[in-house]
Amino acid sequence: MSEKYDLLVIGGGSGGLAHAQRAAEYGARAAVVEHGPLGGTCVNVGCVPKKVMWYAAHYAHQLHHAKDYGYDINTRGHDWGALKTRRDAYVKRLNGIYGRNLAKREVSYIAGNARFIDAHTVDVDGRRFEADRIVIATGGRPMVPDIEGAELGITSDGFFELNEQPKRVIVVGSGYIAVELAGIFNGLGTETQLLVRKDAILRDFDAMLGTALMREMRASGIALTTGAIPAAVRKEAAGLVLTAEDGREFGPVDTVIWAIGRAPNTATLDLANAGVVTDEGGFVTTDELQQTNVDNINALGDVTGRAALTPVAIAAGRRLADRLYGGMADRYLDYRLIPTVVFSHPTIGTVGMTEAEARSEYGEDVRIYSSEFTPMFYALGTDKKSTAMKLITAGHEERVVGLHLFGDGADEMLQGFAVAMRMGATKKDFDDTVAIHPTSAEEVVTMR
Ligand SMILES: Cc1cc2nc3c(=O)[nH]c(=O)nc-3n(C[C@H](O)[C@H](O)[C@H](O)COP(=O)(O)OP(=O)(O)OC[C@H]3O[C@@H](n4cnc5c(N)ncnc54)[C@H](O)[C@@H]3O)c2cc1C
Repeated sequence: MSEKYDLLVIGGGSGGLAHAQRAAEYGARAAVVEHGPLGGTCVNVGCVPKKVMWYAAHYAHQLHHAKDYGYDINTRGHDWGALKTRRDAYVKRLNGIYGRNLAKREVSYIAGNARFIDAHTVDVDGRRFEADRIVIATGGRPMVPDIEGAELGITSDGFFELNEQPKRVIVVGSGYIAVELAGIFNGLGTETQLLVRKDAILRDFDAMLGTALMREMRASGIALTTGAIPAAVRKEAAGLVLTAEDGREFGPVDTVIWAIGRAPNTATLDLANAGVVTDEGGFVTTDELQQTNVDNINALGDVTGRAALTPVAIAAGRRLADRLYGGMADRYLDYRLIPTVVFSHPTIGTVGMTEAEARSEYGEDVRIYSSEFTPMFYALGTDKKSTAMKLITAGHEERVVGLHLFGDGADEMLQGFAVAMRMGATKKDFDDTVAIHPTSAEEVVTMR
């Protein structure tokens, strides 16, 4: 006999948990199937432990500048192992909180590996569960290149398992995870190389951001090489050596990290048994209502291949529950104007269209405002980092359609501006807002 639910969610990560809990609040009899620790990628091997490591590297930067402010500081190094112990304990606490949150809302937690039997039935390690509705929220996993010796390297998942700080590292990749990991290592004193396939990093972002960050990464000591396509990795007595397709060799290093993208967790779900269609990359195809091609099956979060971010998965999950169980027929997630941050050193905050996107959509009707300056924090020292900003408007009313910030504090600066942009703010609204002085953020409302 199989157990029966109104709703069965496959995947206890950001999106799956948010959806199941909201649905249960509306009275749905809900269950979540999860084969790993609760919380998914973000809590266990993503945003949360990553931000802890970012803080650690950020501390190193602050300590470096402390002498400018009169401090006579002598640190005796950094204890990676002690930090990892504290970080792991924090993550474990969060796993517990997630479990208790499910229990509080009477959502059943089914531990195990789910696969479809048919559109209403799921097998979890030999147990059968039936549900009126099934939601796929299985997220993704890091990709490894198909080259000789790739197994000698690790991924971002392996990064969080490192018990000791590598002395020398190669990070391969150009996306936000690659630049974040490179920044953490460099900040904490690891000799860091970043190998980039094409000629730029963060190529999905406004070009100004990648250019500014590349310059800053190099200035801060990261050996950043463009046009390097990995062909093989081998182990020598002195460490790992990576050979590029053009014959160049990099290393020896202690650790090679692949940060070359993420693939969806769909291969073992037996989606064909339920008739669910994926795209050629394996991502579940959904419309704007998170609806798959099968009536009673929805999908959300990273597994759909759209804006792979925790708050996006959560928002999609909650809105779907509002619509399906909360009587809010019009509720769905609008994927435009999603703000996001890159936790590089310094950080990046970005929302809306890139300059290239705005020009292709609005042609001549685009105006660009930009600014580059040295924040006051660096006024007393010699080692200065710059901040760069770009604001993009469209139409004669100059609606702000893109805002791209690079520099200290950009991560905390962006959220409020994203609200204004969703409300349709124009350049005049920005100009009419009185600046907060002395801050870097004031530049956003004083650009001419
Ligand atoms: C290194 C790194 C840093 C990141 N930093 C940020 C950040 O700073 N900010 C941000 O917004 N986002 C960040 N992200 C992205 C964020 O983690 C994801 O967008 C988010 O976790 C997606 O949530 P999800 O619910 O779609 O999937 P997940 O959180 O991945 O959850 C999916 C769950 O499904 C489970 N599962 C898969 N298959 C099965 C199965 N067959 N049966 C049972 N369970 C299954 C998995 O074990 C997993 O727990 C980061 C990601 C990484 C890798």
